[in-house]
Amino acid sequence: MPRWGMVIDLDRCTGCQACTIACRMENNVPFCGDKNAWKGRAIFWNKVIAVQMGEREQHQGSGENGHDGQPVTRKRVRFLPLPCMHCDRPPCTMVCPVRATTRNVEGIVMQVPSRCIGCRLCQAACPYSRRYFNWQEVNYPGSLKQAVNPDVSIRTLGVIEKCTFCVHRLQQAREQARAEKRELREGDYVPACVEACPAKARTFGDLDNPEHAVAKLARNPRAFRLLPELGTHPKVIYLQEGGWQSASSHAVNPGESHG
Ligand code: SF4
Ligand code: SF4
Repeated sequence: MPRWGMVIDLDRCTGCQACTIACRMENNVPFCGDKNAWKGRAIFWNKVIAVQMGEREQHQGSGENGHDGQPVTRKRVRFLPLPCMHCDRPPCTMVCPVRATTRNVEGIVMQVPSRCIGCRLCQAACPYSRRYFNWQEVNYPGSLKQAVNPDVSIRTLGVIEKCTFCVHRLQQAREQARAEKRELREGDYVPACVEACPAKARTFGDLDNPEHAVAKLARNPRAFRLLPELGTHPKVIYLQEGGWQSASSHAVNPGESHG
């Protein structure tokens, strides 16, 4: 049985947001408009956070680009892409009173909008803030309707939504493999954000299959998980930026399942 996971190499991520846009379009993620965005109601199944590191540095301008030799302020910014962590021990599923969210046998944390009663306990329980409440009726005016992906349901007002690892693509890949009378191969099932990343910062596959690139990368000394001390065992694993010589203190043991 596969255990699907993702490795994100922070050294490769340029913060271009292609993953965020691809995720929105693939999964019919609703737009909330300026007013709601200001209230913190924008929905991002995949979010790239920009983190300013350290102090601002002052440099003498080179005279190019109109600086005229004046001091130029530079600051270092790092990027942290955040899909759902698809935790192997997901706190979000444990608190749902109606089992609208569950971890399936292949490790994907599923969300069933038709079961959700909008109590938002899962949102409160997620330590990575990867769940969003849908505050408004979804509306696709005019030609925007043509951009709706028919393979993904459109969620309604009052339910929680989140990254699904584009699980509908797994279904499609399985059907294709069945039609060709063969087993599912590595690379048959690729989520939209992984496909769209121009820097190839994301790798996806079966963490329990030692042949899969994702399993090999997860054993890299640069590998770490977010907030490992919580015991959620995310299946999104990061490769730390720089520091190639120093192994992360949170090195991952990807062979260990916590389902
Ligand atoms: S990241 Fe949050 S929403 Fe995703 S599985 Fe973990 S606890 Fe649940
Ligand atoms: S795996 Fe799919 S749903 Fe999750 S962040 Fe990537 S594109 Fe969005």
